[in-house]
Amino acid sequence: MRTPLIAGNWKMNTTLADAHILATGIRNEAEHLEQIEIVLCPPSIWLTEVAHIVPPRHYSHLKLGAQNMYFEETGAFTGEISPLMVKEVAEYVIIGHSERTHLFGEKVPFLAQKVRSALDHSLNPIICVGEDAKAADSKRQLVHTLEHLTVDLTQVELEQIVIAYEPVWAIGSGTPATPDYAQEVIAALRRVVTEKTRMLYGGSVSDQNSLGFLSQPDIDGLLIGGASLKIKTFITIARQADDQIVAQKSTSKQP
Ligand code: PEP
Repeated sequence: MRTPLIAGNWKMNTTLADAHILATGIRNEAEHLEQIEIVLCPPSIWLTEVAHIVPPRHYSHLKLGAQNMYFEETGAFTGEISPLMVKEVAEYVIIGHSERTHLFGEKVPFLAQKVRSALDHSLNPIICVGEDAKAADSKRQLVHTLEHLTVDLTQVELEQIVIAYEPVWAIGSGTPATPDYAQEVIAALRRVVTEKTRMLYGGSVSDQNSLGFLSQPDIDGLLIGGASLKIKTFITIARQADDQIVAQKSTSKQP
């Protein structure tokens, strides 16, 4: 069974005080949600502060992630953060979010270097892929992109990465994909990786629609933007994922 993962991408939101309140609230509420993994991705400038609230490797099911990183370890790369820096405070790193590809022009070969670097530094990349607009051949194009991003990875590395399917038209739009459509695309993407690779859906997830995605056989969790900034909403979604595992475990125990 793949452990469900609920990740919150705070993007460029929160003051230091907000980050403190949000991380503390989630930590307190998430204490007993031990069937799943929760990954908080605050702005990089707050990672150290949030790491004090959620110490790395202290909470086995509550982890931190960076929203981005550069692939080099050190050097003259003004404004960037390196895998060595991320590793000190976080276990995950989001790579290739559509805001990076669209607003900052990051391309597939560059992203592949980041994936390689994350894995070489024992970080778990959350690799985002998603189409700009609904199109007949979008599934084939996404498969092609994911093949390029993962071409050099070993079987073990393919099991370690996380894929987030995030249709760009669904991000922040209030119009999510349907769970059936997300399942169909994610099942196609899974063929590029492995049965053990965790696959997430992201795009206008709320506590009203999350269960529909979590109930799909190939969807192992959610990457959440806007709704991750509200403690109650984020925890409601995480609790749904946790409850599902508890229910599955108790069903499988029945003779
Ligand atoms: C995201 O930014 O990854 C995202 C899915 O955002 P939202 O949930 O706000 O659509």
